[in-house]
Amino acid sequence: MSSSSTRVAILGAGLTGMSAAWHLRQSGADHRIFERAAHAGGHVITIEDQGFRFDRTGHLMHLRDESMRKLVLRWIGDDHQIVQRRSMIWSNGVYTRYPFQANTAGLPPQVAYECLLGFFQARLATGSPEPTNFEEFCLQHFGEGFSRHFMIPYNARLWGVHPREITADWCSRFVPLPKLEDVIAGAVGLNDRELGYNTQFYYPRLGIGVLTTAMARDLPEIELNRAPRSIDASRKRIEFDGESVSYGSLISSAPLDQLCALISDAPDQVREASKRLRCNHLWYLDAALDVPCGKPYHWVYVPEERYPFYRVGCYSHFSSALVPEGKAALYIELADRTEPDLEASLPGIAEGLVEMGFISHPGQILFARKRKIDYAYVVFDHNYFESVATVQRFLLDHGIISTGRYGGWNYSSMEDGLIFGRDAATQALELAR
Ligand SMILES: Cc1cc2nc3c(=O)[nH]c(=O)nc-3n(C[C@H](O)[C@H](O)[C@H](O)COP(=O)(O)OP(=O)(O)OC[C@H]3O[C@@H](n4cnc5c(N)ncnc54)[C@H](O)[C@@H]3O)c2cc1C
Repeated sequence: MSSSSTRVAILGAGLTGMSAAWHLRQSGADHRIFERAAHAGGHVITIEDQGFRFDRTGHLMHLRDESMRKLVLRWIGDDHQIVQRRSMIWSNGVYTRYPFQANTAGLPPQVAYECLLGFFQARLATGSPEPTNFEEFCLQHFGEGFSRHFMIPYNARLWGVHPREITADWCSRFVPLPKLEDVIAGAVGLNDRELGYNTQFYYPRLGIGVLTTAMARDLPEIELNRAPRSIDASRKRIEFDGESVSYGSLISSAPLDQLCALISDAPDQVREASKRLRCNHLWYLDAALDVPCGKPYHWVYVPEERYPFYRVGCYSHFSSALVPEGKAALYIELADRTEPDLEASLPGIAEGLVEMGFISHPGQILFARKRKIDYAYVVFDHNYFESVATVQRFLLDHGIISTGRYGGWNYSSMEDGLIFGRDAATQALELAR
C-alpha cells in the first residue's frame, strides 16, 4: 500500500468535480481528482449508437451567469446553436403550450372551465392555513382544476412520489406562483409565445457530451476507474485499493448518501440522517426513428396516467447533426420506476407516440434502448432540510465540501454544477490552509 498526500482531493469528474479541478488548476493549487467510472462527464455525456447520438435524456444548457457563459463557450467552441424552446403539453387529446396554467385556450371547454373556476376560487379564498405539502400548495395557489388536470398527476409521475410527500418549503423556493394576468391571457389565447426564463438554450451540434469531453481534455490529471474503499474523516485520508491519500480538504460530488456510507468514522446520528435522504431513479428509452419526427416540439409533458411515459423529447430537434439525414432520435421518460420489459412495453409506448403524432406507425421505430439513471431527482420530503443539514454540518467540520446536484442533494442545473465547482475550489483552499 503506497501513501501520498494532496492539498485538495476531489471525488467525481462530472461537471461539478471538473469545474472544481479546473479552477484549482487556474490558481496553481495542488489537487487530485478521482472518478469512479471509466469516463468523465457524469450525467453529461453523449452516447453514439449506429450513427445516432443520444444524451442522458434532454440536457439543455441555460446560461445566466456571464462568467459561466464565457467558460462554456471556451469549451464548446463555435460549433453550437442557440435554440428557442418549443415545449408543449399533451393532455385531453390536444397540444397546449407550457406552462399549463397560462395556456388553457386550446383545451376542451369543460377542462378549461374547471381550471379557471378553480383558479379564481382559490384566489378568492380567505383564511386558508399555510400549505404543508406540495399538493396543498398546488390547490391553494393553482386551484382544483389546474391541480387535478396537470400539477398533481404530472409531478407525481416526474418525482416518482405523490406531491403530498413533498414539503411545501421546497415549493415556495422553486415553484413560481401563477400570475393572474398570464392565466387570463392564456384563457383567451393571448399567450402565443414561450413564457418563463428558460426560453432558449445553448446546444453543441454533436450533443451535450461535447462540453464534458472538452473539459476533460483540459484536465489530464483526472484519474479514471478510481473509487475509494473508505474515507477516514478525522485523519483526512481516503483509502483506495493499493493507495492511501491524505488531503487538506476534500470536495465530493458523489451522491451524499454514498459519501456518508464511505466514511468509516461517521457518527450514528449522521449515518441515520443520511439514510433518510431520498432520491428517485429513472428508466427511459432512447429510440431511433427511421423517419423525421412527426412533431416539431423539443419535448412534451404528458400528465395523463394512461400513457406509460410522462415526458417525450426529440434529440434531433436540438441538433439535426445527431442523426443520419431523414431520421430522428427520441427520449421517452417512463413513469413506472420498475425495470421495463422492453419487448412487452414497446407496443404500448409506440401506440402513445402514434396518438401524439410523433410517428405514424410503430414500424417507424428502428431500435430502442432502455437506460437507467440511478440518481435522478432528489425528493424534498418532510425530513429533507433537517437530514441534509445534519450531514453537511458534520462534513464541513471535517474539511469535506459535498456539493453538486447529488453531492449537495438538491435540484440544480448544469450551470449550477459549474458554479458549485468553482465555489468549492475557493472554499477548499481556505479549509486546507
Ligand atoms: C433526467 C435529468 C435531466 C436533466 N436535464 C438537465 C437540463 O436540461 N439542463 C441542465 O442544466 N441540467 C439538467 N440536469 C441536471 C444535470 O445533469 C446536473 O445538474 C449535472 O450533471 C450535475 O453534475 P454533477 O457533477 O454535480 O453530478 P454528476 O453528473 O452525477 O457527476 C458526479 C460524478 O461523480 C462520480 N462518482 C460518484 N461516486 C463516486 C465515488 N465514490 N468516487 C469517485 N467518483 C464518484 C460519478 O461517476 C460522476 O461522474 C438533468 C438531470 C437529470 C437527472
